[in-house]
Amino acid sequence: MEKKNIEWSELGFAYIQTDMRYVSYYKNGSWDAGALTEDATITINECACVLQYAQTVFEGLKAYTTEDGRIVTFRPDLNAERLGSSAARLEMPIFPKAQFIDAVDQVVRANAAYVPPYGSGATLYLRPYMFGSNSVIGVKPADEYQFRLFATPVGPYFKGGAKPITLRVSDLDRAAPHGTGNIKAGLNYAMSLHTLMDAHRNGYDENMFLDPATHTKVEETGGANFLFVTKDNKIVTPKSDSILPSITRRSLVYVAKEYLGLEVEERPVLFEEVKDFVECGLCGTAAVISPVGKIVDHDKEICFPSGMEKMGDTIQKLYDTLTGIQMGRIEAPEGWIHEIRL
Ligand SMILES: *Cc1c(COP(=O)(O)O)cnc(C)c1O
Repeated sequence: MEKKNIEWSELGFAYIQTDMRYVSYYKNGSWDAGALTEDATITINECACVLQYAQTVFEGLKAYTTEDGRIVTFRPDLNAERLGSSAARLEMPIFPKAQFIDAVDQVVRANAAYVPPYGSGATLYLRPYMFGSNSVIGVKPADEYQFRLFATPVGPYFKGGAKPITLRVSDLDRAAPHGTGNIKAGLNYAMSLHTLMDAHRNGYDENMFLDPATHTKVEETGGANFLFVTKDNKIVTPKSDSILPSITRRSLVYVAKEYLGLEVEERPVLFEEVKDFVECGLCGTAAVISPVGKIVDHDKEICFPSGMEKMGDTIQKLYDTLTGIQMGRIEAPEGWIHEIRL
């Protein structure tokens, strides 16, 4: 298979249309068999439930080339399960796990020429999503849905090294108490756009959101979970019902315990405690871990001892171990690496 003529290492994180995408339709209570299509355009009624009442959920994962030349995805079964919990919360039908994994395989296979080579730092980003497609004007869930999955090649997250970023504590919330913060739904992102742009306009990279009920506990950013390192080298990660359960964070917790022998605490984390941590990172599929150098809370600043030049040592070890597992340089736990045979 001939690869596309793309400058892999120059790619950013932007949509590039690839050859094939997958679509399955839900009607009269069941999903059809699903198929690949060349058509990247969707035609739906002006009154579709997704357009009026935001009935849509999504996932994000990557396909990439390992050191020994296999094309793989990382724990796609967990994406299938999480899409199911997101869908259930918005009264949408569950897309079957086996069909989800088959859709991932088909889309990657059909776009194999877009899977970046090992060592380029680039990956093929996969975006599965579902939405209510028939017209609904009185408030209720749709009866018809589409599950779709497209692929787009994305560049290395850190060009020229992982520089720590600066966060600010947001006054606005991304989630409500007992709301939808723990599902992967576009509506949570719509909520966060204004405070994200305001953060950017004020020179910050991202927002730190605190718990919506009391604004005393750390939740997450708009699209990544927190990991902290204590002075005595323990990993601490916030636990809350309004945090999205990141697959990267869950994998890093396992790596910390089982590969690096570190102690891990998953518990509510007071914002008050943050100044006592020595390293901070954000975890998500896109970057695996982005180091945080500074957090600004109005007129107060927290500067982590790991500084603004590089990742702290422990976060670097976690990053190297998980990316080593993903790329096939370190033996993976059973079931983590899903190979796609061409
Ligand atoms: C997707 C997402 C994450 C990261 O999850 P991963 O499974 O690690 O990619 C974290 N927070 C939010 C709000 C998200 O939408």
